[in-house]
Amino acid sequence: MKTTQFHLQTRKETPADAEIISHQLMIRTGMISRLGSGLYNWTPLGLKVLRKIEKIVREEMDKAGCLEMIMPTIQPAGLWQETARWDKYGDLLLKIKDRAGRDFCFGPTHEEVITDFARKEIKSYKQLPITFYQIQTKFRDEIRPRFGVMRAREFLMKDAYSFHLNIDCLKDTYAKMHQAYCNIFERIGLTFRPVEADSGEIGGTGSHEFHVLADSGEDAIAYSTESDYAANIEKCEVLAPTKSRPEPQQELKIIDTPNKKSIQEVADFLAISPKKIIKTLLVAGVDAPVALVLRGDHELNEIKAANLAEVASPFTLLEDEEIKQVAQCDAGSIGVKDLNCHIIVDRAVAIMSDFVTGANEDDKHLSGVNWQRDTSFNQVEDLRNAKVGDPSPDGKGTIKIARGIEVGHIFQLGDVYAQSMNAVVLNEQGKSQAMTMGCYSIGVTRVVAAAIEQNHDEKGIIWPQQIAPFTVVILPMNMKKSERVKQAVNDLYNQLKNLGVEVLLDDRKIRPGVMFADAELLGIPHQITIGDRSLDDGEVEYKSRKDMQSIRVKQDEIVDHLQSLLA
Ligand code: ATP
Ligand code: MG
Repeated sequence: MKTTQFHLQTRKETPADAEIISHQLMIRTGMISRLGSGLYNWTPLGLKVLRKIEKIVREEMDKAGCLEMIMPTIQPAGLWQETARWDKYGDLLLKIKDRAGRDFCFGPTHEEVITDFARKEIKSYKQLPITFYQIQTKFRDEIRPRFGVMRAREFLMKDAYSFHLNIDCLKDTYAKMHQAYCNIFERIGLTFRPVEADSGEIGGTGSHEFHVLADSGEDAIAYSTESDYAANIEKCEVLAPTKSRPEPQQELKIIDTPNKKSIQEVADFLAISPKKIIKTLLVAGVDAPVALVLRGDHELNEIKAANLAEVASPFTLLEDEEIKQVAQCDAGSIGVKDLNCHIIVDRAVAIMSDFVTGANEDDKHLSGVNWQRDTSFNQVEDLRNAKVGDPSPDGKGTIKIARGIEVGHIFQLGDVYAQSMNAVVLNEQGKSQAMTMGCYSIGVTRVVAAAIEQNHDEKGIIWPQQIAPFTVVILPMNMKKSERVKQAVNDLYNQLKNLGVEVLLDDRKIRPGVMFADAELLGIPHQITIGDRSLDDGEVEYKSRKDMQSIRVKQDEIVDHLQSLLA
């Protein structure tokens, strides 16, 4: 491709709304352009990268025995009503009406559609197991679209769905898909980690997310210092402390804490550690409000809380007015003593003694509080986020935390969808039985952004070779004036093209400085500079984008040199 015949629109300015480097670089290279909030055009340059990722994904899915198909993006409401997700999915679901007033949604995912397809197409256990996939546009009306295509509203997803007669068969396919995902991210050239994930509302028997490790990642990944345990922090269990509760030493006292509302304010005011204070959060319960109690220095894990039978889902903190009704005070003074509701304490709280808690009266706290002697709880649960130094849940080593970008998610669904949608087959005994399902997704467009987060420097992108928009870029110096340069450049360009190398020839009439800056911004792995000076010695200049080392190579050896690098 010659630059003058391509559409290359690089930009110097970084758009104001681009907070993270991948978003900035995707706009500056001109890979994407914004249409509206969370909506992007993929330019010819961006699409080249996207197609390469799609190709790797498709090849690995095919190799794993999955069958490609395409389902409509627009889905009838009726299917979503069968699974009750029409109401439960929430505001992410873009609902639309057709001219006759019938309800539809733009698919944020395709479990309903594929289950409907399967119940019509699959009648016998003999057709199982089978896995279908598609690479297709999804829409989710994200509350805060941001980071460019990383969290967009319209994005490209690969979603696969497997159907089985039983859970053992599902587990088998799940393991194969896990391996296929590892192959995909390895081939793309990313540093990634499969982690245990929360299986949420749907339940199911297992789930893993695939994370690309990067500081800008929105997820926290907990991993062990000594084993290969890794989990999304949402899921990482915090083991019960091995210590037992010390005997009470202090007397129960009521103390004035004027205007001290947060844990830190109370700790500073009383000159004690937040570890000696407990915080009580009132949340919506299934029947009545529930109190969740944590140590002052610990963070609530909302996913763990929402998974408890007593706690309403979605997780909702009570409003000030509702708090007043339960605790007769504002949020800063809620406490466990004489609190008239179901109290669930974190494992760490259950072994505390002589602690400080709100007094259920504005501007007052209680100190020297002890379980059993002064007050009690109803239930002990794991409620908090794991933190650095906690013991690893598998008993080996301690927890460390890294940031990750979720690029894929695989899920053992079980038979929830098949049950609610009556997707049944005849089993070996001729009896009708609900199918067991798995689902497996990859955020194809998000992978592009994640790859840039992991591969860039201050000059621009450094593409992993497998997904670079072009493999080689030729930069001619003074081609318009030097017939010799022009000849050398065209010869090399044609040779590489004939060999099937994806080569970009920058034939623009621009200053060399601009040409080099663009090449570095674009991140093409291999750069060849051809000018009179090196040609005088029968040589051209080769530079790798990754290490930015320039070397001179004999003009008649450059093709071999490149081929050995590309092999
Ligand atoms: P997240 O936690 O990031 O919102 P999710 O867990 O809701 O994602 P899934 O339902 O697991 O997403 O979707 C499958 C994959 O689609 C995700 O792993 C992610 O790579 C991608 N994805 C999800 N939401 C978006 C989005 N708004 N923009 C781009 N990619 C997305
Ligand atoms: Mg997910």
